[in-house]
Amino acid sequence: MPSERASIADRRTRAAAKLRERGFGALLLSPGADLFYLAGYQIFASERLTCLVLDRDGKATIVCPEFEAPRVAVAAPDIERSTWGETDDPYAAVAALVRAPGAVAVADQMWAAFVLKLEAALSGRAFVVASEITRQLRMRKDEAEVDALRLVSESADRTYSRILERHFAGRTEREIGADLAELLRAEGHDEVAFTIVASGANGASPHHETADRRIAEGDTVVLDFGGAMRGYRSDITRTVHVGRTAGREEQKVHDVVRRAQEAGYGAARKGASAESVDAAARRVIDDAGYGEFFIHRTGHGIGLDGHEHPYLVRGNRDRLEPGMAFSIEPGIYLPGRFGVRIEDVAVIDADGSARPLNRADHAFATVA
Ligand code: ZN
Ligand code: ZN
Ligand code: ZN
Repeated sequence: MPSERASIADRRTRAAAKLRERGFGALLLSPGADLFYLAGYQIFASERLTCLVLDRDGKATIVCPEFEAPRVAVAAPDIERSTWGETDDPYAAVAALVRAPGAVAVADQMWAAFVLKLEAALSGRAFVVASEITRQLRMRKDEAEVDALRLVSESADRTYSRILERHFAGRTEREIGADLAELLRAEGHDEVAFTIVASGANGASPHHETADRRIAEGDTVVLDFGGAMRGYRSDITRTVHVGRTAGREEQKVHDVVRRAQEAGYGAARKGASAESVDAAARRVIDDAGYGEFFIHRTGHGIGLDGHEHPYLVRGNRDRLEPGMAFSIEPGIYLPGRFGVRIEDVAVIDADGSARPLNRADHAFATVA
């Protein structure tokens, strides 16, 4: 088992090979998932430029504020640093490190304020997005990454089983959302990214903004939550109902969504296209007569970002490969009434099949 620093260095070697293959000059990464992936360094984005420069020969340098250099040295001791003081020009420092000709690939989420200044400092060069280089690398998770995803998913599973013990009726969505956040942390998450609690008619909006609606007996409630542990992200959805028996149509819709998700799992295997997983889940919902109410793609990749490649959507012919991790999350949304979604994170195993990383029960659970 290679050490963590060795496997991060190996990623830079492969990224540099891709730069050469594409004829690009360098990769420029501001704080974000790509920087963490290729340097093991994480810091919040701010107006002071921090930028990893990876040239096509594989030489890496982190340009950073002088007073943050000690942090960089601890996190990434094997990467050179170029520091700048408060009155220096960090863009010139970056430009000086880009020696080879060709386009520069900048982090997809680099702030425009930085991109524009880098364009001025590197005038005459084409700029492309870094995912042209990093996407193929990050889509195929290594063993340690899959392990990290499994651990964070298990923490989300435990959070779900514990929320079922809480009282729902009479409390607001916001209160349940706060419970979820508290439980995610108690179960090992070091970051809570979102807690969607969409009750009753609010459930018909997939990204409902959890607010002050008071949950009542008889409601169907969509719970979609996630966060991160050591950088790797969780994302799980279960739909529950409040009170003894769910309505007939609620039960039927839940059953359709559950079968759609199973069909997604069945289609997700090595060599299958990303779009074929979407088609398999969608077919079940179409056949049940709810096709027009499944209003989003079936899933998204997950890793250091909550949403990343591969996307399970019509038109994406990318072939699934071992190490790819993604959500399978069909849903049915009936405007003015309720919604149902079931979401797990799954990974394509070495044997080629999709293994669930979430194992929380899929049943239409009852809460009080
Ligand atoms: Zn979503
Ligand atoms: Zn989700
Ligand atoms: Zn998701």
